[in-house]
Amino acid sequence: MKTVYLDNNATTQVASEVVEAMLPYFHELYGNPSSMHSFGGQVAKKIREAREQTAALIGAAPDEIIFTSCGTESDNAAIRSALTTHPERRHIVTSRVEHPAVRSLCANLAGQGYRVTELPVDKDGILDMEQYVASLTPDTAVVSLMWANNETGVIFPVEKAAALAHERGIPFHTDAVQATGKIPIAMQKNTIDMLSFSGHKLHAPKGIGVLYVRKGTKFSPFLIGGHQEKGRRGGTENTPGIIGLGKACALAAQNMAAENTTVKGLRDRLEAALLARIPQSRVNGDPLQRLPNTANISFEFVEGEGILLLMNEYGICASSGSACTSGSLQPSHVLRAMGVPFTMAHGSIRFSLSITTTQEEIDFVIEKLPAIIERLRSMSPYWTSVGQACVSA
Ligand code: PLP
Repeated sequence: MKTVYLDNNATTQVASEVVEAMLPYFHELYGNPSSMHSFGGQVAKKIREAREQTAALIGAAPDEIIFTSCGTESDNAAIRSALTTHPERRHIVTSRVEHPAVRSLCANLAGQGYRVTELPVDKDGILDMEQYVASLTPDTAVVSLMWANNETGVIFPVEKAAALAHERGIPFHTDAVQATGKIPIAMQKNTIDMLSFSGHKLHAPKGIGVLYVRKGTKFSPFLIGGHQEKGRRGGTENTPGIIGLGKACALAAQNMAAENTTVKGLRDRLEAALLARIPQSRVNGDPLQRLPNTANISFEFVEGEGILLLMNEYGICASSGSACTSGSLQPSHVLRAMGVPFTMAHGSIRFSLSITTTQEEIDFVIEKLPAIIERLRSMSPYWTSVGQACVSA
């Protein structure tokens, strides 16, 4: 059976060019980039090149890039650094829809006595900027707001939010794990102090992440050890991962236009066809301020887990909520924050496409899903007692 992989916000396939770029650095060119000999030196040179490729994708300078192990580490390092470098401040501003990499850390910090403001969002997942400004105080040590939401794809106006934080002398971090490679990012044109992203979301391998730290930003390292990454992140470099990430960033820059035309076109085709064919269904998230690859669709009166199981029988991979929370039967915290009704939130599926997605795959889902929903609804007491009446009303 062919796999139809529409779960690219969970992780992506490593591009074959990326694998090819990495391979020599496992077995042939395995030197330590910190070594004095030229065997290690050639690896250091390749890392410099990867740092340039990585910086170029987000319009940064190469020495503003710190390689980490993942998006979660980058988020933790950024927020903890701001707290350490502003020890007199005890307040953090974030949102209710952040990934657990930020949200769970903030909950942990709240347990240690920090005051955390979790900003609400409206029904479309949009932030209220007046409430945001009102939340900023002289005691605020850091603002951490995601650039794009992993479940709905909704984009926050982080550049504007960073400028507002800066006017008040507050450091600003953004979790751009889902945004990087999908929408243009130009750090030379904004005032964001720190930005996180992760290789495995943009066709690089798992286990490599990035923390961008703007030149001049006070920074306190999370991993203290050797002099690697200019003393900002100790630990021998993940050389194949870094080299793979550099290549993936170069490819992402080349594919950015297609991401916003071809991929978006396929996503829109999927949404329009499913909404037309399946009654009591809707798209979650602002129709305009949204990543081009993400479709979060609710099918009322069915369970997301049931949909996933039946799609799995056809080899279709998607997700009900974020990959990290899909072990729980609670509707996702993101959809709850948006006030999506319970009967809709439970039957929500996230389809996330990538540059590898084909029209054939999208048409296969359009062909199979209506019957899956109908089958599940025919077994649902909610549907037979309440749902059908909604359709005929
Ligand atoms: N932030 C967002 C928005 C994410 O979607 C994810 C992963 O799903 C992360 C952070 C964590 O990244 P990583 O898996 O590299 O730790």
